[in-house]
Amino acid sequence: RDLALRATRLPGYPSPGVLVVLHDISELRRLESLRHQFVANVSHELKTPLASIKAYAETLRNGAIRDEENNLIFVNRIEEQAERLHQLIVDMLHIARVEAGEEAFDITQVAVQNVVDASVRMSAQSAKQKNIRLLVEPPPERVVVVADENGLRTVLDNLLSNAVKYTPEDGKVTVRWSVEDQQCILEVQDTGIGIAPEHQKRIFERFYRVDEARSRDLGGTGLGLSIVKHLCLSFNGSVELQSVWGEGTTFRVSLPVAAD
Ligand code: ADP
Repeated sequence: RDLALRATRLPGYPSPGVLVVLHDISELRRLESLRHQFVANVSHELKTPLASIKAYAETLRNGAIRDEENNLIFVNRIEEQAERLHQLIVDMLHIARVEAGEEAFDITQVAVQNVVDASVRMSAQSAKQKNIRLLVEPPPERVVVVADENGLRTVLDNLLSNAVKYTPEDGKVTVRWSVEDQQCILEVQDTGIGIAPEHQKRIFERFYRVDEARSRDLGGTGLGLSIVKHLCLSFNGSVELQSVWGEGTTFRVSLPVAAD
């Protein structure tokens, strides 16, 4: 254990009155190291798209601008990388607000079906492009949870877009929900690449990706799942996963059901 010893002379006490205070600083050290790591990760994440933007702009200036066949490709790449930077900043600000408890949630009664439908509509196009079947399996009864509607939508958008991103062509993504012990269990299941056990423990950490290059190529920031986790916790819920490498993954969100 890291203990900081501080000896203070007590004012007004006759010498040698001394107050000894023992501080446990191991927790402080841990937080400090997490902060350093976060700043290092953020710098790295920001540097990569910026370096690409610089390189493409330089290539254009050094002559590619006159190459009519390719100059638009470079301009498009610059736009893509700028969009990446934008997404990264939006995600980082979001997670910082949620973690600091500063995100203003509007906790109300939310019908799960409505949020699922809206989220499925958003992912429908990318699923279609890969010929992935996107199935919704609602329970017979209407399920209402206590959460912030936008927050729940963000949770589903992230899980669904990941499911589509990490599932090869002709696969299947299923969204289903049910009620167990006053909890709504909402599952997003895919027939994708799966996550090996050694990665499953770390998958909710900020910036953690199984395959950095693949995630980048797919437009990922590595922040989606940590946002999902923080949102679920903020709504007194939880999120966990089951996955078999090479076969598929199921994310399971649990949220309190609204009292009748
Ligand atoms: P990213 O923006 O990289 O998708 P996330 O935080 O959403 O970041 O996910 C972290 C990592 O978890 C991803 O890079 C990917 O390696 C893995 N992952 C997330 N969802 C799935 C999934 N449904 N199937 C396989 N791997 C996944």
